[in-house]
Amino acid sequence: MYLKRKLNDDLLIFKGLRFPYKANFKNSHRYQTIVGIGGNIGDVKRRFEHLFVEIKRDKRVELLETALILKNPPFGFKDQDDFFNSIIVLKTNMQPYLFLDYLMRLEKKFGRRRSFANAPRTLDLDIIFFDNRIINSKKLTVPHPSWSKRESVIIPLSGLNL
Ligand code: ATP
Ligand code: CA
Ligand code: CA
Repeated sequence: MYLKRKLNDDLLIFKGLRFPYKANFKNSHRYQTIVGIGGNIGDVKRRFEHLFVEIKRDKRVELLETALILKNPPFGFKDQDDFFNSIIVLKTNMQPYLFLDYLMRLEKKFGRRRSFANAPRTLDLDIIFFDNRIINSKKLTVPHPSWSKRESVIIPLSGLNL
């Protein structure tokens, strides 16, 4: 069950039991990271719920908080369904590249197939911030280069209780 609110002609906000969500702070892992989640194939909100459960029971990560879900139009390749996006805040002991591999395995587990840039996808997991690290390599750019230009990141992010 989700409460729905229209922001404008393009943007719709969903609020449910697990998005947004705030955990009781345990703080047993070293690094805090902010991950953007998105998708536009099938029942994406339901997939986010499953991702939440999966992450909750994984000892390698600690789920601190999730944001509301934003439904918003695609960019780049426009001839595809609207995206659902949210943010999750995690703690982990993994180093950034290992954490990226972990996220890519999760994407795969949730049906992600890679085709072309900005293509429709079941689940996209982007590292937006990783502690206060700055990384600029071919495989990984942190903070995510486009985070401040995307409503899909800024709107969920601005509601967090960080
Ligand atoms: P965008 O990054 O603009 O949102 P995208 O998410 O559609 O595009 P993907 O096809 O999911 O792009 O990923 C392409 C590559 O981006 C990955 O193989 C990964 O190595 C790289 N990458 C660079 N920086 C990051 C980051 N901060 N988080 C996740 N992947 C990243
Ligand atoms: Ca992305
Ligand atoms: Ca990505």
